[in-house]
Amino acid sequence: MNSDLNLVPLNSSILHSGYQHPVTRAWANQGRNISKSMFMYPIFITDDDDAEVSLDSMPGQKRWGVNKLEGFLGPLVKKGLSSVILFGVPLKTPKDAQGTLADDPNGPVIQAIKVLRKAFPSLYIATDVCLCEYTSHGHCGILHEDGTINNQPSVERLAEVAVSYAKAGAHCVAPSDMMDGRIRAIKKGLIDAGFGNKVTLMAYSAKFASSLYGPFRDAVDSAPSFGDRRCYQLPPTARGLARRAIVRDASEGADVIMVKPTLPYLDIVAEARDLAPDHPLACYQVSGEFAMIHAGAKAGVYELRRMAEESVQSMVRAGATIILSYFTPEFLDWLDEPTML
Ligand SMILES: [Zn+2]
Repeated sequence: MNSDLNLVPLNSSILHSGYQHPVTRAWANQGRNISKSMFMYPIFITDDDDAEVSLDSMPGQKRWGVNKLEGFLGPLVKKGLSSVILFGVPLKTPKDAQGTLADDPNGPVIQAIKVLRKAFPSLYIATDVCLCEYTSHGHCGILHEDGTINNQPSVERLAEVAVSYAKAGAHCVAPSDMMDGRIRAIKKGLIDAGFGNKVTLMAYSAKFASSLYGPFRDAVDSAPSFGDRRCYQLPPTARGLARRAIVRDASEGADVIMVKPTLPYLDIVAEARDLAPDHPLACYQVSGEFAMIHAGAKAGVYELRRMAEESVQSMVRAGATIILSYFTPEFLDWLDEPTML
């Protein structure tokens, strides 16, 4: 062995000199820093106006009644919460095959939009748009008699629901159903109703049929009564379909592209960044990811804050500009007390 090679690294071998100090570690961050305004907090709103029900599978998260929203969100808005996304969780109201109550004017989502607009004029309010929480069969669209998706009426119904949320005052509608052509239909619906230039359309474009949605399904009680969602959510291996869906939704008029879930799909986040470089890119750190990070921390595998930060840093590094996360309240605190890298 040549002893020179063992003892003396080449000049170009030395990397430590570039990150041996907290300041140089900060310089090594070539992406954007995480900021409060990147976070969008998912909120579950149920049809019991006074509800405040803890969700066992999602530590710290609750189902809220409309009357509790102001007290719950007020302190977070003071800390810098800038946006929320609302999910309706009807538990008492009857469901039917068409999801008729998705845009019930007295339903939890429309009531919540109105309450929040009034209470927090600066808060940006997005609404998830889907039918599964309102259909008797629990699927995200309207079905043929044989149980398969009937795409056209599904898309028309989703557009109606989106327009109803816009009329109630939502700043953003976010279809999560994965029906074909719904971005075009919703965009047209918004334009025809006079909201074309007023309401953001955030498309769940690459939404995969993931194992990570379990806690969410518990929270919203939306598991399908038969079958599963693999005929419309993307197969985990389907990079090509994800790319096509992203390009399609961008061309149909989406203002924001989303990838969901995040950690097992960071390659798709990075691809979305390249495929739609001029669109804001959202990623949804879903319920199972949130629960997994909590479970690992509880088991002593890592420290909760560091792992939560690392997960969000990876999304931002991959190109995300908007993070939907149940850790939003924690980040509003953590970003006020930065740790040294
Ligand atoms: Zn759905």
